[in-house]
Amino acid sequence: MVNGRRKKKNAYIALGSNLGRRERNISAALNALETTKEIDVAKVSSLFETEPVGGPDDQPRFINAAAHLRTSLSPERLLAVCQQIESSLGRKREVPWGPRSIDLDILVFADEIRSDPELMIPHPLLHERRFVLEPLAEIAPDLVHPTLDQTIQQLYDALLAAS
Ligand code: ATP
Ligand code: CA
Ligand code: CA
Repeated sequence: MVNGRRKKKNAYIALGSNLGRRERNISAALNALETTKEIDVAKVSSLFETEPVGGPDDQPRFINAAAHLRTSLSPERLLAVCQQIESSLGRKREVPWGPRSIDLDILVFADEIRSDPELMIPHPLLHERRFVLEPLAEIAPDLVHPTLDQTIQQLYDALLAAS
């Protein structure tokens, strides 16, 4: 830290939407991240249409993506920014894993580890979710999972082999 300015770190997030104009919600969230002074959006995956996992029956299909951010924010501040963007895009917190206009999850934040239920990093279900690993493997195949010690590509291959 020099003069209160922190070095930017690599963070990876998952984006998902299954309500309203899904692509637009994803791109509005990315825009809001990019216009945040302390955040650069370094890379964004393709958009993947996926079947819902968990939550109520018959909810609409999701569009999922992953993004690589560079940020001088702490993990806690990045979560607060993500939650504020979710609210501004009309996210309501109702049914667990239910339909949502936008969901922003922090997957990995440099080599930081958090085990608070309010903020778990790496995201505890990252390695079990195809809808997360597929877009993440597209933009960061060589990223090493900070606690599992395998690359994202290895985790994705293992998940595919197991299914
Ligand atoms: P899941 O985490 O299984 O994908 P979800 O995204 O549907 O579930 P939400 O309702 O969006 O869950 O969030 C529930 C809580 O998860 C939030 O209040 C937030 O504090 C907490 N949380 C814990 N770790 C993270 C993380 N890495 N990224 C985003 N939120 C997190
Ligand atoms: Ca989620
Ligand atoms: Ca979430």
